[in-house]
Amino acid sequence: MVEKVLQLKCNCNEYPWGKQGRKSLAATLCEKTPGTDFKLDENTTYAEMWMGTYPDLPSYILATGEDLQDVLDKHPDELLGKRIADKFNHTKLPYLPKVLSIAKALPLQLHPNKDLASKLHAKNPDQFTDPNHKPEIALALGDFEAFCGFKPLKDIERLLQLEPLKHFLPQVKKPAFDDQTLKHVVCAMLKASAENVRKTNDVLTKLPKDAFGKDTYIPDMIPRLSEQYDEADNGTLVALITMNYLQLKEGDSIYIPADGIHAYLSGDIIECMARSNNVLNTGFCPRADRDSVDTFCSVLTFTPHDAKEAILSSQKFDRSKNGKTKLYAPPLSEFSMLATTIGDGESETIGKLGGPTIMIVTEGEGTLKADGKEYKLSAGYIFFVAPSVELDFKATKQIKAFTAFVE
Ligand SMILES: [Zn+2]
Repeated sequence: MVEKVLQLKCNCNEYPWGKQGRKSLAATLCEKTPGTDFKLDENTTYAEMWMGTYPDLPSYILATGEDLQDVLDKHPDELLGKRIADKFNHTKLPYLPKVLSIAKALPLQLHPNKDLASKLHAKNPDQFTDPNHKPEIALALGDFEAFCGFKPLKDIERLLQLEPLKHFLPQVKKPAFDDQTLKHVVCAMLKASAENVRKTNDVLTKLPKDAFGKDTYIPDMIPRLSEQYDEADNGTLVALITMNYLQLKEGDSIYIPADGIHAYLSGDIIECMARSNNVLNTGFCPRADRDSVDTFCSVLTFTPHDAKEAILSSQKFDRSKNGKTKLYAPPLSEFSMLATTIGDGESETIGKLGGPTIMIVTEGEGTLKADGKEYKLSAGYIFFVAPSVELDFKATKQIKAFTAFVE
């Protein structure tokens, strides 16, 4: 017999775009896990805490120190449920939730679809470590800025009438500005020389603000992004001229489909994705780290094509007994996410879920009753829960908890 609720300890990676020391929520949540061996260093930047079984940064059972994957391998029927193990054809969790603490822009990226991912993995398994796609959602824990998908075509077309940008348009003028024209523009911006990008950015910042129509943030953002990377970084042009710039508040969420262009800019978020670590980077990173611009351009998808289309709205969750839990269900079926907020002295019950779940408490104090036992809840407490376990929460101080699951 294996316990159905397993408290976990997780780890953080140290990408340079992460927040420094205790400014990083990802790192402080790792540090607050009771009994962890994670040691926070104030001079290190901490980017992402991973919760799950992806081998690059696995989670461990707090009580025994065992790798969560080893325990799932030993007890797949009890911990994953036969239906989920059969559906995904293995004992691995099909999703990977993370906490991200973002101080500056992440590389401009997309996650390849399954077809391309399996080709890239076959060719270069060191860089593309799995054959899976990676749709993802990002749920804001506070103010969150992101570039996500493309602006509507008419807005991009209007910006490209600005003198310094005209040379990115195709030389043979097409009758209509369509997605193929946009692809040409994105590709031209990504291939532009450092000199060209620097000069374009320079001239753009000297234009009067009203030249940018409603996108008056563009001239302000050029120096900000140039300081983070380099004035010659091709990502600046693509992000500012062609992509949606979103300013989200706590509880807002965006969905990134496979092949969808995105770059997160600042904030703390919960992210959840299909089990994959495949990424093509082309901007906001050193030129040497860029994956082929041609590959990037060839798979670009044109959804979302509007800031509104990027938003993933929350829904009422029918198994939330006291209505304190909202559901975020992305269109692809490998995972959904629950966000639970329980005020001082209040309680909440989440009815049985049909598959394995991972839950993290990001703030508050209280208790969880599950499978006949009681567990303390506090920030940095992370649990794996087997299928068909009802979760009874009581808060003594307002609790916020996030649960990734699959059914
Ligand atoms: Zn991503």
